[in-house]
Amino acid sequence: MLLATATGLSASGGASAAQDGADLVLRHGTLYPVSTPGSLQGSIAVRGGRVVYVGDDAGVGPFVGPRSEVIELGGRAVTPGLIDAHSHLEGLGAFLEQVDLTGADSYDEVIRRVAAAAAKAPAGAWVRGRGWDQNRWPDKSFPTHGPLSAAVPGHPAWLERVDGHASLLNAAAMRAVRLTAADPDPPGGRILRDAGGAPTGVLVDSAESIYEDRVPPPTAADRERHLEAGGRAAASLGLTTVTDMGIGAESAAAYRALQARHQLPVRVAAFWSGSDTRLSDWLSGGPWRSDDAFLSIRGVKLYADGALGSRGAALVEAYSDDPGNLGLVVTPSAELERVASAARRRGFQVAIHAIGDRGNLIAIDALEAAFEGVPHPELRWRIEHVQIVRRQDLERMGRLGIVASMQPTHATSDMPWVPARLGASRLDRAYPWRTALDAGVPLVLGSDFPVERPDPLLGLYAAVTRQDLDGKPAGGWLPGQRLTREEALRGFTRDAAWSLFLDDQVGTLEVGKRADLVVFAHDPMTVPAAEIPRARVDLTVVDGRVVYRREGAP
Ligand SMILES: [Zn+2]
Repeated sequence: MLLATATGLSASGGASAAQDGADLVLRHGTLYPVSTPGSLQGSIAVRGGRVVYVGDDAGVGPFVGPRSEVIELGGRAVTPGLIDAHSHLEGLGAFLEQVDLTGADSYDEVIRRVAAAAAKAPAGAWVRGRGWDQNRWPDKSFPTHGPLSAAVPGHPAWLERVDGHASLLNAAAMRAVRLTAADPDPPGGRILRDAGGAPTGVLVDSAESIYEDRVPPPTAADRERHLEAGGRAAASLGLTTVTDMGIGAESAAAYRALQARHQLPVRVAAFWSGSDTRLSDWLSGGPWRSDDAFLSIRGVKLYADGALGSRGAALVEAYSDDPGNLGLVVTPSAELERVASAARRRGFQVAIHAIGDRGNLIAIDALEAAFEGVPHPELRWRIEHVQIVRRQDLERMGRLGIVASMQPTHATSDMPWVPARLGASRLDRAYPWRTALDAGVPLVLGSDFPVERPDPLLGLYAAVTRQDLDGKPAGGWLPGQRLTREEALRGFTRDAAWSLFLDDQVGTLEVGKRADLVVFAHDPMTVPAAEIPRARVDLTVVDGRVVYRREGAP
């Protein structure tokens, strides 16, 4: 089988592949092209950032030249580069920079970790940490800032508790956010105080967000650092395209600066934040993609409702564990329709966050109205999460051509408490991947990182098992909704690329496509399902360049 063509070979004055060779050749592998089902034993050649050969090993010979880098796969699996269709790259970068305080068994240990991070940070820079839990400490009462402020005097430190419902600030941080003894407790929150009424440094619930709003926003340099760090982490997990769902102009500027300097480790498809008052300015700039396809900003992200855990997802019938509560409509359907129509006029794609069945109904109504009642699959408009949805509404999505952008690990994270929220009679609406496919809804997959871990192997595993990492429950939660591995791989590659208008560039291993691919230590498509999370990425290639190589990989 020979699938090679001369695509992309015109740059070197007519020299043939045989004379010059490819830049990169991977041979003797198990290739999953995804453009066609199944696998083949063979080789891939890359030149000028594009795939110039996919086929059997014998046929790649003419592409091996003196300057070709040749990687012997020894049968290892190669898939198209993985794509996270719903994620937050800048959020991941900021998250990775925070000091990890989980597992600290004493306040001293927390202070030690924060002081070590501060020692490496520029003078005066904020140090953020997360994950402390005083229930693990010998003294289980809330900490007070004194010892922390003494050990870390020169850097404002903001340390979030493991549950996110309290934060500890040092003296420098309290000064920076102008927190004083005179401040009253805000509604829905508390400022913990000592016997004399002075703040101890701990803020609870709404007090956290009030003072967090006074933390200076990240600088351009901070943002670029976060994007690069997040991108490198993504590449190490086999992700070659990620998303940033809901950015503002400051983030867009950081993305554009990195793209212009060719410093984005992976491709990024970003969506404007549709709730920002500056949206109409951004839309007037039109949709945009860089020539190298590393960066696109051609979508708008909106919100229909809240989240299920906090009972903010809008439901058609009340929460089973909170009678009378129908959840929260964040944006009414008419407003969603207004913004969606404006986006359509400017050529932008629309993506609406909807988690509850009423949230999804509101989103579908808005999109249908913006479609003026006519199906528009070519617009590739998306609903994000689609966690709880009725069959008849999925069928409407299928008829209208609306994409379901779902996150397999949300199902396995949420499954312990979803039955309490919904009751047994509504569970057929919960994370219904199979029902969506049966209704003809295009299904694309992601992680929503940093809400969930960014590793797409965890998503693949959750998609095919609907089990947690301990293999529970046996047989999987609502197992009728499981996906096959091929369906899950398509959701993380070809179909995700399509949903981001990148299918002309990436998403499959095909001659002429940009060379984004992953080599796995163990074949995630054939190992026992329980071992998918440990399939391990050996090599990640973006645009023909090796952006990650696991230490010790062959
Ligand atoms: Zn999200």
